Amino acid sequence: MTEKFESLNPATGDVVGTYPIHDEADVAAAVARAREAAVWWSTLSFAGRREYLDKWNAVITRRVMQLANVSHEETGKPHGDAQLEIMIAIDHIAWAGSHAEKVLGPKKVSSGLLMANQAATVEYRPLGVVGVIGPWNYPVLTPMGSIAYALAAGNAVVFKPSEFSPGVGTWLADAWTEIAPEHPVLQVITGLGATGAALCKAGVNKLAFTGSTATGKKVMAACAETLTPVVIEAGGKDSIIVDSDADVPAAADAALWGAMSNAGQTCIGMERAYVHERVYDQFIRELKAKAKAVELSAEPGGLVGPITMPSQLKVIASHIADAAARGGTFVLGGPNSVGDRYVQPTIITDVPEDSIAITEETFGPTLTVKKVSSMDEAVELTNATRYGLGASIFAKERGMELARRVRSGMASVNSVMAFAGVPSLPFGGVGDSGFGRIHGADGLREFTYAKAITRQRMKPLLAAMTFERTAKTEKAAAQLMTVLRGRATTMPKFKK
Ligand code: NDP
Repeated sequence: MTEKFESLNPATGDVVGTYPIHDEADVAAAVARAREAAVWWSTLSFAGRREYLDKWNAVITRRVMQLANVSHEETGKPHGDAQLEIMIAIDHIAWAGSHAEKVLGPKKVSSGLLMANQAATVEYRPLGVVGVIGPWNYPVLTPMGSIAYALAAGNAVVFKPSEFSPGVGTWLADAWTEIAPEHPVLQVITGLGATGAALCKAGVNKLAFTGSTATGKKVMAACAETLTPVVIEAGGKDSIIVDSDADVPAAADAALWGAMSNAGQTCIGMERAYVHERVYDQFIRELKAKAKAVELSAEPGGLVGPITMPSQLKVIASHIADAAARGGTFVLGGPNSVGDRYVQPTIITDVPEDSIAITEETFGPTLTVKKVSSMDEAVELTNATRYGLGASIFAKERGMELARRVRSGMASVNSVMAFAGVPSLPFGGVGDSGFGRIHGADGLREFTYAKAITRQRMKPLLAAMTFERTAKTEKAAAQLMTVLRGRATTMPKFKK
C-alpha cells in the first residue's frame, strides 16, 4: 500500500490534505508516461502547444481564488499575496507560450567566409522530459518558471512540489489533466525529500531545482551520476542599497515590503540594507513608522503570516541571537521575536558583518541596516557574500551604475523584486545562488539543446574538405586568409 503524508496549515497545525509518498517505482512510471507524452507534445507546432498552454492558463485564471486558497492554507501566506503570485505566474505562462517560436524556432545565421557556399541554420530542440523540484515559499511562481518554459519549449514535465505545498502542485497538474486528459505532459509526484532524490535518478533529460543551496548541492551530485544537466535556483542574501539622493520614504517602504512580506520567506527578499550616512537617520525613522502597521495574522486578509516550515524557526532565532550577542541594536522586535509559529518583524542595526545574521540566509522577517559612508562601501559589503541572487538600489543619479556593480543575477532600481514579474527578463543567480536561468528567452533556451544545421547551396570555391584537395587549393586558401585576416584593421595606438 502506498504510504501517505499530511500537508498541514502552518498557522493552526490543521490537516489540509493527505498525499501519497511516491517511491522510486512510482517516479519511474511517471517519467515513462512523460516520455511517451513528450513525443506527442514535441511533434505539435509552436502554435499547437501555445493553444494548450493558453487553455491551461485560462483554467488557472478563472479559478485564481481557489488556487490562492490552497496556497494560503498550505503556506500560511495572506490570500492577497497568494493571488498576486499566481497572477505573475499567469503572465509568465502567457509569455512563454507566445514567445517560444520566435526564440526557439529556426533562424538563418551568417555562414562566414570559408563556408560561404553553405546555408547555416540554428534552432532549439526540446530535451524530452524535464524534472522540476520546487520549494514551498512561492509554490506557484517559482516552479512555474521552469514548468511553463519547459512546456513551451516542447518538453514534458514531472513536477515534485515541496512536502509543505503538495496541494498546490497537485492542483496545477489536475488543471492540466482537465484540458488534455489523454496526454500527461504535466504530472505531479508527491512525497518527501526521497521522492525528489528519486526524480534526480530517474533518467530525466534535465532537472530544474529551486530550493536551498544545501539541497541544490545534493541534487547536483545525484544528477552527476547519470550526467543529467541541472538548473539550480538556490538561496540568497539580497540587500537594498540607499544612496544620498534617494527617495527615502519609497526606499523604506520597499525595504519593509522586501524584508517582511511572505514573512521574509522570499529567495529574493531583502535581508540587508546599506544606507548612505546622509539619509540614514531619516531612513530608520521612516522604516520604524511604516513597520508599526505590519502585524502578524493568520487571517486570509492579514499582512504577515506564520513561518511555513517549522524547522526554519530555529535558524531565524539563531541569527537574531547572534546579532544580539554581537552588539546589535533592535529598531523593531527583539531577542524574543521568534514564537512557536510566528516571527515578529525584526529590524536590527549595528550588526557586525561577520555575524551569521549577515553571512547566512535567514529566510524570516528580519532586516539588518548599516550606515555606510559611500556607495563604494555599500557595493563592497553587498558583494561580500557567497550568494548573488538579486538586489535593490534606491538612487536618483547612480541607480543603473550601482545595479551593474552588484554581483547578482538581477537588480531593481527604485523598486524591489520587480524583475521577477517581467516575463522577458531572465531569472537566476551566481555563486551559491545557483546557475542557469528561468524566465525570458534564456529561460526558454534552458530547456532545449541548440541544433546547428548547414545545407550546401553550391559547390565550394576552394574544395578543402576532401582527400582530393590539391596543393594549389591549399595555397589559394592561405593567400585568401592572409589578404582577409593577416592585417589588423585597427592598429593599436602607442603613446610616444
Ligand atoms: P529545500 O532545499 O529544503 O527543498 C527544495 C525541494 O527539494 C523540496 O521539494 C524538497 O522536498 C526537495 N528535496 C529535499 N531533499 C532532496 C533531495 N535529497 N533530493 C532531491 N530533492 C530534495 O528548500 P525549501 O523548500 O525549504 O525552500 C526554501 C529555499 O529555496 C530557500 O533557500 C530559498 O532561498 C530557496 N528559493 C530559491 C529561489 C530561486 O529562484 N533562486 C526561489 C524560491 C526559493 P521536501 O520539501 O519534500 O523535503
